[in-house]
Parts: sequence; structure tokens; C-alpha cells
Amino acid sequence: MIGGVMTVTILGSGTSTGVPVPGCSCAVCTSEDPQNARTRCSVLLSRGGKNILIDTSTDLRQQVLREKVSHIDAVLYTHTHADHIHGIDDLRSFNMISGQAIPIFGSPETLAVIRRNFGYIFDDELEPGYRPRLETREIDGPFDLFGLTVEPLTLQHGSGVSLGYRVGSFAYLVDCNAVPDETLTRLRNIETLVIDALRFRPHTTHFNIAQALELADRLGARRTFLTHLSHDVDHARHAALLPPGVALAYDGQRIEVDPTG
Ligand SMILES: [Zn+2]
Ligand SMILES: [Zn+2]
Ligand SMILES: [Zn+2]
Repeated sequence: MIGGVMTVTILGSGTSTGVPVPGCSCAVCTSEDPQNARTRCSVLLSRGGKNILIDTSTDLRQQVLREKVSHIDAVLYTHTHADHIHGIDDLRSFNMISGQAIPIFGSPETLAVIRRNFGYIFDDELEPGYRPRLETREIDGPFDLFGLTVEPLTLQHGSGVSLGYRVGSFAYLVDCNAVPDETLTRLRNIETLVIDALRFRPHTTHFNIAQALELADRLGARRTFLTHLSHDVDHARHAALLPPGVALAYDGQRIEVDPTG
């Protein structure tokens, strides 16, 4: 479908510390394999000249420079852990070039935390120019964005919640350790899944690799990419052990998906 394809760029495939972990001298952190270098978790959805960013990771600046991103048209937030929001100030560069405010979407709770943590951005008493220009848009169900239907998906993330997002046959599910039944029904007929799979051992707030594989299998996803990876995962060694149709995500990876299916 020429023109209809949506490109998903893995901006960051790493857990909250990034990989290498500062100070760590383990085999993965000292590896020379570029696919073991993981910035904080984020993706860019591109279609028809529009770029939709999911989360503003701590590493946003280096991610958009690396991928030569020229504009950001909207941001979708999953939740407010630091690794997913702390790059927010770098949206300012895109405001300066476009002269436009950027709409940012999230649950009412997420947007309230962002307004509180980054009060200077939303303080109209302050001079413009030294802060991003953002317009908050609360999500309360599926919505249209640049001709795409974006469906928010409630996920369990430890004692809290995060939002996954479905666009057509693609779903992005990060920072979760369980998927409520109501969300499972919204994931029917998914073809491409990018999913949290922190490490091999269990974790209280993230799926481990076995749990992510089980969910991908249950959903019948044709292609699954594991992300939010820690330094327990060695790209070359562990990618070879995954079942058919499953791969480790890596920074800079591009995946083409059908945004209407
Ligand atoms: Zn995270
Ligand atoms: Zn390490
Ligand atoms: Zn989190």
C-alpha cells in the first residue's frame, strides 16, 4: 500500500538506566556491538509527512539528531516515569523551527504530573522562547490524529498504570507487567507488537522475556520486537535464541506497519 505504510523507528530500546549502565563493567556494558548500546525507551511513528513521538525520553536530543528528525507533530505519553518524560525540554528546538505549539496527549493523571513536574513550561507569566510550547490534550478513548486512529490501551505497571497505544495492526506496549482483559480484547488481530521485555529474571513492574513471548504468542502477533531491555540482554547472543517472528529491538531500527489494519 504505497503511501499508506507507517514507519515505526525505534528511537530507544533501553531500560531506565540506558545501556551501558554508567559505572557498570559487565560484558554487555563494555561490548563493542552497537546493538548493545540502548538509549531510553521511545519510538517515532511516521506517515504522510507527520511524525508522532511516543514519550520524550531522557535521551530525546541524541535520538532525534541520530535519526535526523526534522519535526515533531504530536507526542503521546505512556506514563510519567523519569526515563519516559525527562527529555521534554528538547521539544523546544522543534517549536523554534516550526513556530507552532506541539500537542501532547496522555491520560489526565499523566498530564497533571507533567504540568506539576515541569511547571515552568506551562507558566504563562514566564517569557516565551526559553521553554517548549506545548498544548495538553487529555485522552479518554480512541481518537483521530492526522488521519490515523490512535487507541490508548490501559496496562498494569506495578502498582500504577501506563498507556499502550494501538494504531491499526501495530501496538506499542511498554512499562507493563500485566495486561487487563479489557485491553486484551482491544489487541485482537494485531500483527506487529513492540513490547516491554526487561530481562530474563522476573521483575515487579515489567514483563520479563518469557512473559512477553507468552503474550505475543497468545495475541498471535506475526512480528514481535522486545524492547526496554536491560544490560542482562546481549543482542547477538540472545537474539539467536528467540522463536521465529520474535526479535530484539535495537536503536535506529525501522519497522514498516499497516496503520489501518
Ligand atoms: Zn521505562
Ligand atoms: Zn552492565
Ligand atoms: Zn515505568
